[in-house]
Amino acid sequence: MKNVLRALKIKAVNEGVSTGLESWAGNGRMLSSYSPVDGALIGKVRQATHDDYEKVITKAEEAFKVWRQVPAPKRGEIVRQMGDALRANKDNLGRLVSYEMGKSLQEGWGEVQEMIDICDFAVGLSRQLYGLSMHSERLQHRMYEQWHPLGVVGIISAFNFPVAVWSWNAMLAWVCGDVCIWKPSEKTPLSAIACQQIIQEVLRNNDVPEGVSGLIIGDRKVGEWLADDTRVPLVSATGSTRMGKAVGQAVASRLGRSLLELGGNNAIIVTENADLQIVIPAVVFGAVGTAGQRCTTTRRLILHESIYEDVKNRLVKIYSQLRIGNPLDTNNHVGPLIDTDAVRSYVSAIEKVKAEGGKILTGNEVLSGGDYESGCYVKPTIVEVSQQTPMVCHETFAPILYLIKYKTLDEAIAIQNGVPQGLSSAIFTLNIREAEQFLAAGGSDCGIANVNIGTSGAEIGGAFGGEKETGGGRESGSDAWRNYMRRQTNTINYSTQLPLAQGIKFDI
Ligand code: NAD
Repeated sequence: MKNVLRALKIKAVNEGVSTGLESWAGNGRMLSSYSPVDGALIGKVRQATHDDYEKVITKAEEAFKVWRQVPAPKRGEIVRQMGDALRANKDNLGRLVSYEMGKSLQEGWGEVQEMIDICDFAVGLSRQLYGLSMHSERLQHRMYEQWHPLGVVGIISAFNFPVAVWSWNAMLAWVCGDVCIWKPSEKTPLSAIACQQIIQEVLRNNDVPEGVSGLIIGDRKVGEWLADDTRVPLVSATGSTRMGKAVGQAVASRLGRSLLELGGNNAIIVTENADLQIVIPAVVFGAVGTAGQRCTTTRRLILHESIYEDVKNRLVKIYSQLRIGNPLDTNNHVGPLIDTDAVRSYVSAIEKVKAEGGKILTGNEVLSGGDYESGCYVKPTIVEVSQQTPMVCHETFAPILYLIKYKTLDEAIAIQNGVPQGLSSAIFTLNIREAEQFLAAGGSDCGIANVNIGTSGAEIGGAFGGEKETGGGRESGSDAWRNYMRRQTNTINYSTQLPLAQGIKFDI
């Protein structure tokens, strides 16, 4: 890991990493980043004080005055260079993400690939920030709308996608002409510093002020500064529903804008007409991939009674063969949870669901000794439930899969929708009527609804996000860019008269 850190220009890891940048300041308490893979200390970082925060905001406000004047396609060209810089650093950054977060190396590299993809998307977008033109009801008048940058965008991100979610926001915001301040998860600060170094080099090469990309490291307090700050017109926050409620309320109380990407409780419905050959890998990847720590992880499996026993038996067999261990070893299927607090949540959730009548089919074990010395490895667990108890309705960020039996598709859809969250959903069926019913207005109430594809693993081209307690925000593709801009309607009179709208007369 030392070589990886050196290649990513992360120095002085034991004294509190420093970069010499004003857009990333830290003079506060020391924060240590430990790897959940083996429990080793990776490095120490100084957290931002309120004074540091003020410096970063000032830099950002100064930079905005310059950046908003740069033509959008030119901003796109700089984002293209950022994509190239990420390509050049993909191997090392992917390794750091894997080691600091605990996801597999494939997923670490995949996360960097997602950053590269969103750069490409943003470059094209920089020439497509379209507004509409309308026909004015008044003679010799022209009416149209245009989109202007908003200003300073605050980005609060979660530990499970330590870098990709930031890039979904930042790359779009940058081509839109905004400047960004990133508050990464306090559990993955080094991955964020590595990104900041990569981006700053590109900004320097283009003579762009460093305040275009600011970074503030710290715990929730630092996130609260952003949420409360009237100088930050948009706060995009990814994380738990608890966090989203706090940030959403703080931003709303000052009438700012928030974009919330919160918890999910995603289900797959498997009908009697499903192709079980593709169901099984989709469920296993969705439920145990990233050790159940994706917002789109499959947490509930709603099975038609005719195939229930068959699917259940196949899953239990596969779960018994899963290899759990160091995620950097490509032979392993399941890595660690992020920390021992997450392990405690796993244990407590299983205890509670048992008390609610759930039957454990496999799993329910914290692994120890040998390769598991970090204390963060658990066995993926399957629990059979007869109804959606409070624990089933709750998002536990761990590999716990609940099996639920149904008779009719109406009943299955009601179960799928019967939780507070609304992020991702899927149906497996070869019957077009069932598929269309699931996708229709009375079907899935989620932001993402798939047919014959599992719940996790979205592409950047679509708008990503969900309803209800998932927060309602949309990021990444489609027209999500509009979140980062303000709309202005312009009416231009090129006549010699001053006609009023709606034919109103006002003679003086
Ligand atoms: P978390 O809510 O504990 O922390 C997320 C971020 O919010 C961190 O940077 C944290 O410091 C900050 N924060 C916490 N409380 C805050 C407050 N009151 N004010 C301001 N900032 C605050 O979440 P986590 O454990 O890092 O991540 C897991 C959660 O994130 C899960 O619920 C998962 O579903 C969700 N998630 C959602 C998406 C999505 O796109 N919907 C994507 C990834 C993760």
